[in-house]
Amino acid sequence: MNARANPPRLVIVGSIGLDTIQTPAALRTEIVGGSAAYAAMAASLFAPTGVVGVVGTDFPRSALRRMARRGVDLRGLQVVPGRTFRWSGVYEENMDVRRTVSTELNVFADFRPELPPDYRAAPYLFLANIAPALQVCVLDQMAAPKLIMADTMDLWIRETRKDLMNVLRRVQVVTLNESEARHLTGEHNLVVAARAILRMGPRMVLVKKGEHGSMLFHGKEIDLLPAYPLDRVRDPTGAGDSFAGGLMGRMAATRSRTPSAVLEAMRYGSVTASFNVEAFGWDRLARVRPAEMGRRLRRYRRMCGRS
Ligand code: AMP
Repeated sequence: MNARANPPRLVIVGSIGLDTIQTPAALRTEIVGGSAAYAAMAASLFAPTGVVGVVGTDFPRSALRRMARRGVDLRGLQVVPGRTFRWSGVYEENMDVRRTVSTELNVFADFRPELPPDYRAAPYLFLANIAPALQVCVLDQMAAPKLIMADTMDLWIRETRKDLMNVLRRVQVVTLNESEARHLTGEHNLVVAARAILRMGPRMVLVKKGEHGSMLFHGKEIDLLPAYPLDRVRDPTGAGDSFAGGLMGRMAATRSRTPSAVLEAMRYGSVTASFNVEAFGWDRLARVRPAEMGRRLRRYRRMCGRS
């Protein structure tokens, strides 16, 4: 889509679509969403990011311009005849529980990712939530990424488990929420579940617990991180994607891949996600300025007892 001189350090594949979301705060129809949209907007706050995905000709050009203005490299994004991916969900009163009302894969159903040559050499890869077969297709085109993180969801655990296991064998980090960790393993205890997932391939398992923060499991170690506390959440959609995008953007910027670097990058992810949930869709995320990111990070560290 746009011509950029610099190859991306981080490549993200995932959904880009139009969401209809009902939260206790409001109902919004057909706003820009999708795992890769949130993750790329978040990651590009920290590192040059290229996105791989597909939209139909009905996708708003203004949203593509918004991503390009943020510096997201869109050469891996295909615009094809047909309808864009659509998803709709409803949140319950406490916003903890979300119910999917409908999912239309539309142009994603026939999508074959084709990576621009310079994307293939990117050292960091984030396989955001999308069909695991598409995640594998992108993985197969990459030269030798230093760090690969994958996300997934209940739908793929239930319907394409074999493909998902292929992904898990080939990534170093997997991120999933607590109910997905339980669903994937059949274990209710999160420590037992995470250890079972470690045996499926990844070196690190990152369990997201919404407003209760996140946990990183590696070897026999467990690290805990709180969420950034907010007095007003309007729309939790994309919290996990912006968390993961911020994390991977930070990893790509610091060129690291150790568990302690992932833990530090999770702090960036937590703060990035806190901006995202303050407004519907990516409205707040798209407006974050580096100075406010810095202020919130310092405040978060103080709250966590770190200077
Ligand atoms: P999150 O709130 O982090 O779980 O992510 C929400 C985003 O995931 C929404 O913007 C949806 O468009 C997207 N999404 C929902 N279902 C799917 C799916 N089956 N595949 C890919 N993306 C999805």
